[in-house]
Amino acid sequence: MGDNPSFSLEGRRALITGASRGIGAALAAGLARAGADVALAARDLKSLEEPKEAIKAEHHNAIAIAIDVRDAVTARRAVEDARNKLGGLDILINNAGIEEVRDSLEVDETLWDKIVDTNLKGAFFCAQAAARGMAEAGGGAILNICSLTSEVGVPTAVPYGSSKSGLLGMTRALAAEWATRGIRVNGIGPGYFRTALTDVFYQDTKWQEAMLAKIPMRRFGHTDDLVGAAVFLCSDAAAYITGQCLYIDGGYMASI
Ligand code: NDP
Repeated sequence: MGDNPSFSLEGRRALITGASRGIGAALAAGLARAGADVALAARDLKSLEEPKEAIKAEHHNAIAIAIDVRDAVTARRAVEDARNKLGGLDILINNAGIEEVRDSLEVDETLWDKIVDTNLKGAFFCAQAAARGMAEAGGGAILNICSLTSEVGVPTAVPYGSSKSGLLGMTRALAAEWATRGIRVNGIGPGYFRTALTDVFYQDTKWQEAMLAKIPMRRFGHTDDLVGAAVFLCSDAAAYITGQCLYIDGGYMASI
């Protein structure tokens, strides 16, 4: 038997997009606690101050990078900026994402482009920029934040579901293409988590009750519930895992 699998991210350098709040902020803190130096990225540098300082207060290394993932050129420059400032880039978490529900008969091109360009195009060009350096350095790990809508059809969430189904397809295809370059590409699919993105649904207590009835664990997720799987998939413990998506949903997917 060779080396023991390691769950530690000590010495790894990680970029997390959409890290100003919610799931991305929790994943950045989680990766830092596992030993990684982290670059937190979002459109507004000021919004990154609080999560960055919280990580530094725990004596981990964290920097902030401005990125708009919808613009491929800006995204590439931001990934390169993160790589230069961290001294390399071993891990990318494509987490930046937006959602807006609308009757599909009312969806216009602006809404479609906004959602799909952020969630799918943005993830691709960040992955491409990260993979160029990873390939030269001998490898890396990319984690895409998918969704239950990567697998399940949700009415009025068609641009979002299309982007997240596409993200799962992209995860598999890039995993197949980049495996020989030492780059692993996986996904996690969060179930129901109350964040700024989803808060509008949670304001409706009837919706909450109906959703809880469908979740076998009878609770919504806490963002920290996602950290273990993210750290694992980015670590050497997952060295032979690529092209997979792990759903973290209190049993939802298993029961529908
Ligand atoms: P939040 O709205 O809380 O956070 C979204 C993050 O993405 C923010 O940091 C935001 O920062 C950033 N972001 C948005 N647009 C861009 C852009 N164009 N460029 C760069 N950054 C951007 O959402 P969540 O934490 O809930 O969601 C995070 C991810 O998890 C998303 O991909 C979402 O689809 C996915 N997800 C969430 C679920 C949930 O239940 N919450 C369930 C399944 C998946 P800023 O606006 O400052 O740029």
